[in-house]
Amino acid sequence: MSTRTIVRRVRGLPASDGAGVKLNRIIGQRALEMLDPFLMLDEFGSDSAGDYIAGFPDHPHRGFETVTYMLNGRMRHRDNAGNEGLLESGSVQWMTAGRGIVHSEMPEQDHGLMRGFQLWVNLPAKDKMTTPRYQDIAPERIPDVEPAAGVRVRVVAGEMFGVRGPISGVATEPVYLDIALQAGAKVSTPLPENHNAFAYVFEGEGVRLDDEQLARGELAVLSAGDSVKLAANDKPARVLVVAGKPLNEPVAKYGPFVMNTPEQIVQAIRDFQTGNF
Ligand code: MN
Repeated sequence: MSTRTIVRRVRGLPASDGAGVKLNRIIGQRALEMLDPFLMLDEFGSDSAGDYIAGFPDHPHRGFETVTYMLNGRMRHRDNAGNEGLLESGSVQWMTAGRGIVHSEMPEQDHGLMRGFQLWVNLPAKDKMTTPRYQDIAPERIPDVEPAAGVRVRVVAGEMFGVRGPISGVATEPVYLDIALQAGAKVSTPLPENHNAFAYVFEGEGVRLDDEQLARGELAVLSAGDSVKLAANDKPARVLVVAGKPLNEPVAKYGPFVMNTPEQIVQAIRDFQTGNF
């Protein structure tokens, strides 16, 4: 048995995306360009409508998956194949863009708190041109378990503490956990030993991870190992723990297109420009 430790710490950078949404880019910036298979992690959170109201009007994706975890607020999603859905507080959308979609992600509120994460997960070469697929998961479909006193875990993806998260059929066999710890609570969470994994503290002041402090707003890249130990200090804390199987394939990335070769990127741009998504 091997417990995961912190091998690297990263803080997000303020960024702006879509039509001017303010966000915190944690993966996908100079300090951490990617953590195979994770290409990007954005945290958004504001109760000032001016920071989010412009939303993300029509834009394309090809070759990977976008995972939107809404903590607070409402976002409407529409794509060029006629798919539409409303992401509400506590829901998750796992979208496999595959060969391509063009969609918008727009706030369905003009005041109040909007908060959540968007994670980009790479697809293996063999699946990059797969048919687009949506897994829209309502809040009540996400198991909420109490594996230890004072600890609640929402299992979005992966099999954990005797429950299975609702996300299925993802090539990188992800684990996606939202772990809330009361003051003084602790938990050991199993993780697939050779998955790449990170932990990110998004509420509270910080936690102990193994025996080191991890502050709020700090992402820990974890060593390999079959579990991660988290403990709250004297305040409650909430931590995102995510793991995925590394693909170890070449990555050619250009904005919202993530392929294996520059030629495939040129093709993606051409297909998008000629309306072939
Ligand atoms: Mn998008």
